[in-house]
Amino acid sequence: MKELFSQLNPPRRILMGPGPSNVHPRVLKAMATPLVGHLDPEFLKIMDETQDLLRRLFKTENQFTIPVSGTGSSGMETCLSNLIEEGEEAVVCINGVFGTRMADIVERNRGKLTRVENEWGRAVPLEKVEEALKGKKIKLVAIVHAETSTGVLQPLEEISRLVHEQGALLVVDTVTSLGGCSVEVDKWEIDACYSGTQKCLSAPPGLSPLSFSERALKSLEQRKTKVPTWYLDMSMVKKYWGKERAYHHTAPISMIYALREALGLIFEEGLENRFARHHLNHRALAAGLEALGLEFLPPQEERLSMLNAVRIPRGVDDTAVRSKLLSQFSIEIGGGLGEFKGKAWRIGLMGESSTRANVLLFLTALEQILAEEGLSPAKGGAAEAASAVYRE
Ligand SMILES: *Cc1c(COP(=O)(O)O)cnc(C)c1O
Repeated sequence: MKELFSQLNPPRRILMGPGPSNVHPRVLKAMATPLVGHLDPEFLKIMDETQDLLRRLFKTENQFTIPVSGTGSSGMETCLSNLIEEGEEAVVCINGVFGTRMADIVERNRGKLTRVENEWGRAVPLEKVEEALKGKKIKLVAIVHAETSTGVLQPLEEISRLVHEQGALLVVDTVTSLGGCSVEVDKWEIDACYSGTQKCLSAPPGLSPLSFSERALKSLEQRKTKVPTWYLDMSMVKKYWGKERAYHHTAPISMIYALREALGLIFEEGLENRFARHHLNHRALAAGLEALGLEFLPPQEERLSMLNAVRIPRGVDDTAVRSKLLSQFSIEIGGGLGEFKGKAWRIGLMGESSTRANVLLFLTALEQILAEEGLSPAKGGAAEAASAVYRE
């Protein structure tokens, strides 16, 4: 039993899966700074700074923009359980695992669910949403901006127009997109959206940045029944983050330090620079993967830059490749989810993990491992194809 008392010593990994991503030392250091009380005047300042930075990141003036205590799924649960009451109609767009999760949450809240099902690996077309909205009194439409299970980017502007024409609320999952590509809450008129700290924000998992529009807040005020979950009832949590500073639950202080520091790093880099970095590293990785003969799930114009989903070549052992990447190169990538289990790899280039060095090391490692697995693409071709993109 002696080992239980020895110091914890997890390995250093290159995190290139669907999250968590690597964390900057400044963020880890922020977490090791002294604890203060959750109502300490100095902590209240840090809360205000965090909210200001989150508004800048979400590109919103929404007063109610806070980090919910919990991972990305807690933000999902917050939006849906605060905005849907028993018997109200919700449309959920499903083209991957996270749309499926949203539908499950609507049902648990006894909403009347309409599913807009679409092929996995493709964006949801406008017409399908239009069809689902016809002749119904819909309370909200929920959709995933960056579907991490398939690597698909969902265009939102036209869908938003449609949703608001019908007087419904638009709920958007920006867990994987926020901090890696443009998310425009006010311009796209998103009523409620949520994210997660461990993807493109490059902080540990544990908080879910969330923003509610005035329309969403009004809908929350006008509920006939209490929000079924006490912990995630934003009408109460709002009073802690707002002027009242009323105790609801103890804020996860060190996680809020981490988020505040991660947001500082984002604005130090600059949003546009950050998005361009994600895009460039994606293009280089894609060139390398294609040189190895790997095919992306989504067509080029629908691909995410922070998550690259490719089909596993026929005859190649999924688990063997991923465990070699981990044991020999300390690189983590993700396997497929849902209908792509065993059929796809998900290679993340999120936040701090999106670097040229990671792209080149990963391609070299994968090429070597695929050769050992009996696939023999041109030697050195992958890293060379990626380097050509960087030289452009
Ligand atoms: C990761 C993810 C979630 C869930 O977040 P957790 O932090 O795992 O709870 C939800 N939606 C999308 C699109 C995600 O990528």
